[in-house]
Amino acid sequence: MTTPDCYACGQEAGFDDLPPRECVAHDEHWRVAHAFNTAVPGWLVLLPRRHVAAVHELTDAEASALGMWQVTLSRALRSMTGCTKTYVVQFAEAEGFAHVHFHIVPRMADLQPEHRGPGVFELLRRPEQERVSADGADQVARSLRAQLRGRPNAQ
Ligand SMILES: [Zn+2]
Repeated sequence: MTTPDCYACGQEAGFDDLPPRECVAHDEHWRVAHAFNTAVPGWLVLLPRRHVAAVHELTDAEASALGMWQVTLSRALRSMTGCTKTYVVQFAEAEGFAHVHFHIVPRMADLQPEHRGPGVFELLRRPEQERVSADGADQVARSLRAQLRGRPNAQ
């Protein structure tokens, strides 16, 4: 079910020991992680629990859960960050990241015009000093868990 050289599968293989930022929440089909290379607090990545390389390969059960996760996570991010809305984006083109992953990105009211829409990806793959720290991402993860508590799909 896992694929060598796949970052997401590597994390899944160590599931029981993942820090909060790598497993903000999960169900049997999906795992939610905080992006590790972003400058945006709350930039989430929603990953299938098995290696899937294209959206059309998802099962019906995975697809049903996907819709709930996208909306539930968007609500939690809005509660936590006050974002105007969320971006939901799926490409899976970066090397080592062919595993389907949906970016769920809080779109803040003051986001610079050049970073709106596809330009938001300039806030990913940032130099290390600009990124949300591991500790910061763990804190975001704990806050999100509190928002998700009691909701369907929540851990
Ligand atoms: Zn994979």
